[in-house]
Amino acid sequence: MEIHELTIHELHDKLKKGELSSVEATKAFLARVEAVEGTVNAFITVTKEEALKDAEAADRRIAAGDMQPLTGIPVALKDIFLTKGVRTTCASRILDNFIPPYDATSVAKLKEQGMVLVGKLNQDEFAMGSSTESSHYGKTRNPWNLECIPGGSSGGSAAAIAAREATATLGTDTGGSIRQPASHCGCVGLKPTYGRVSRYGVIAYASSLDQVGPVTRDVTDCAIMLGAVAGFDPKDSTSVDLPVPDYTRALIPDVKGLRIGLPREYFIAGLDPDVQKAMDEAIATYKGLGAEFVEITLPHTDYAVATYYLIATAEASSNLARYDGVRFGHRSDQAQGLIDMYRKSRSEGFGEEVKRRIMLGTYALSSGYYDAYYLKAQKVRTLIMQDFSRAFAEADVILTPVAPTPAFRIGEKSADPLQMYLSDIFTIPVNLAGTCGMSVPAGIGKGGLPIGLQLVGRPFGEESILRAAYAFEQATEWHRQKAAL
Ligand code: GLN
Repeated sequence: MEIHELTIHELHDKLKKGELSSVEATKAFLARVEAVEGTVNAFITVTKEEALKDAEAADRRIAAGDMQPLTGIPVALKDIFLTKGVRTTCASRILDNFIPPYDATSVAKLKEQGMVLVGKLNQDEFAMGSSTESSHYGKTRNPWNLECIPGGSSGGSAAAIAAREATATLGTDTGGSIRQPASHCGCVGLKPTYGRVSRYGVIAYASSLDQVGPVTRDVTDCAIMLGAVAGFDPKDSTSVDLPVPDYTRALIPDVKGLRIGLPREYFIAGLDPDVQKAMDEAIATYKGLGAEFVEITLPHTDYAVATYYLIATAEASSNLARYDGVRFGHRSDQAQGLIDMYRKSRSEGFGEEVKRRIMLGTYALSSGYYDAYYLKAQKVRTLIMQDFSRAFAEADVILTPVAPTPAFRIGEKSADPLQMYLSDIFTIPVNLAGTCGMSVPAGIGKGGLPIGLQLVGRPFGEESILRAAYAFEQATEWHRQKAAL
């Protein structure tokens, strides 16, 4: 098997046995990046020199017998994570020249384990989007079908895994940005419970929704990555002080008696036939494994997208106020005076979708509209949370599609933001409820496009969805399929 085909756990075994060095593995991934990047464009920055230095350090550590699960493993990160000394753009022109002076906590944790950073990955600008088409650094293509989008906003993270350009990646998920691209690129992606992973040093989009999580080749790798980044961080006041379990211990292929909820509102007429078929087959697989199914209801589902786009844009308009050309980022050289400098720097630095959201959010928060929009959205959010708590009285995990269709064609939805927003209809409610969800490969439809199923767990119930995902993975072959790039 080629080196770039190895998962974290496979590569770890080889490094441990001395069959391979981290330098050799890193060179193999860098060669792969060079071979396919011209087609895929999953990276904004490739950190070749740092990667080789990291790999040498990892090899010394391995030789000294100081090995952790990620020591010497080539990892790439969405360009939303601050990386000390390595340019971090968030796919925006406004941060084109930004070199962070410190690491995000999640990055620091991976570095402590001795990961090898191979580069920073493409995404939608400021993580606003579902297709990675709004990046200032060009579109990313879906390795399974180059005419199609990889999903978004962590499209580079999922495409890099599908194209075997890194062993594992981190993304962020505010309304589906880990799960939807994972689904479209045949990867495993997990959005942890709000508060499970520190967001310190992660560029903020919508602070009450953003979470950090892994995109990986299989469920075992997902458990390893989650365990590496999860945990309380005094630098993030929203992180929760709960012990971090060893998630790999949840990987037991046994779902006998597990109560799986099927939300009536998610299995609607009009679901893409390939997605419907994959869900039907997944349900049959779980029944064969001894799981029980219950019909549940999440009655406020219809309001989720509208609620999300009020809350997310309101928070974004506030978070993005800091990009004014004063302390960091792009500054217009055409400006006359301070106000003109703010205006021109922002006009030149932000793309169209980001500007749309800043305007929508500013409007929703403006005096006279605040109660009608923002406050009302917060109330509906509470109702959506209550829907989930009620559902979890009857079900241990909830199974749904990740997205209503497989990956769409590049350009298909760019002219119609509302159509783009609707592609997150099944993932957004999980962020509003603040709980955990993951995407697992569950089929391949027309055009050779992968389809994922979503498993949603109780708050801090990551172990239950990992277990259900692992059982499914062991019973199926979908995770072994690969893009014919
Ligand atoms: N597509 C959604 C949005 O544009 C979700 C993005 C995300 O999760 N970062 O807001």
